[in-house]
Amino acid sequence: MVTNITVPRLKCAKNGVVSSWRPRARGPNLTSIQGAYGFQLTAPGALLQRREIDTLEPRLEEVVVEVAGCGVCHTDAGFALDGVPTRHTLPLILGHEISGRVVAAGEKAAHWLGSSVIVPAVIPCGACPACRAARPTICRRQFMPGNDGDGGFATHVLVPSRGLCPVPPALPKGLTLELLSVIADAVTTPYEAIRRSGLGPQDVAVVVGVGGVGGFGVQIAAALGAAVVAIDVDPSRLELASKHGAALVLDGRTTDLKALRAAIRDFIKDSAREGIGLKIYEMSGTPAGQATAYGLLDYGAYLGVVGFTTKTIELRLSNLMAFGATVRGYWG
Ligand SMILES: [Zn+2]
Ligand SMILES: [Zn+2]
Repeated sequence: MVTNITVPRLKCAKNGVVSSWRPRARGPNLTSIQGAYGFQLTAPGALLQRREIDTLEPRLEEVVVEVAGCGVCHTDAGFALDGVPTRHTLPLILGHEISGRVVAAGEKAAHWLGSSVIVPAVIPCGACPACRAARPTICRRQFMPGNDGDGGFATHVLVPSRGLCPVPPALPKGLTLELLSVIADAVTTPYEAIRRSGLGPQDVAVVVGVGGVGGFGVQIAAALGAAVVAIDVDPSRLELASKHGAALVLDGRTTDLKALRAAIRDFIKDSAREGIGLKIYEMSGTPAGQATAYGLLDYGAYLGVVGFTTKTIELRLSNLMAFGATVRGYWG
């Protein structure tokens, strides 16, 4: 259903269209890539500019991925349009939802050569205390393509091989490697939030914001057997959500908080689910969505904060105490 937009594959000389990248032998397995190019952000608000990438030479544990598809994330829009700072200084090639094929590899990553892969949006170091404590998404030494270094709005991208997700050569009908790029973030981020919340068939899930991330959130929650409510301000998104797993859809523009709460109370009764407390996921990344999600908290409720905005809202924190509720944030 709702997916992030996929950048069309950038054609290369091999299939006879634009550029002239070529792998260069450097040993039995090892190669570097020349003639690659990408589209870089030079300043917030400016159009992305084409930049040639002279040579991509993977170090020991790195690989060069020939990009098949790269999703456009809300975070990219934040970098490009809203002045959210990238960790690496501009100019920078954005894009962190990457799928493609490994065309060059360092010595310790040579076994990846030729493989189809999804590149995780957040690549943890694997060795620090956070990584060892099974919290790799908050690793302070993580590498995020398109944020810590050049990303996937390009013909090729250089990334660490750690965490690469292999994709089988034969895919189910209707799926292409290009389409799978959004698994890197738009699918796995709601998946992480939903799994860590312990959502199951006994629960009612409320997804606030059912766009590029929340649309997958609805499908994942429904696949886990929960009764799903979708809230958005865009009727077309709500229509998609209702076709793909949401049993109740509510329009945040025309329904105030009190009416939303009442509708959800009735829905819980009808759904006959016995889970203690709603499981709410804020996936809109807007102040209005955040206020709505927080306002839906009730006894034993759980709120997963997935969407990102630089803006602030005012909350009565004591509601958490009064309801014995939990709020948890998710990065990647
Ligand atoms: Zn993202
Ligand atoms: Zn780490």
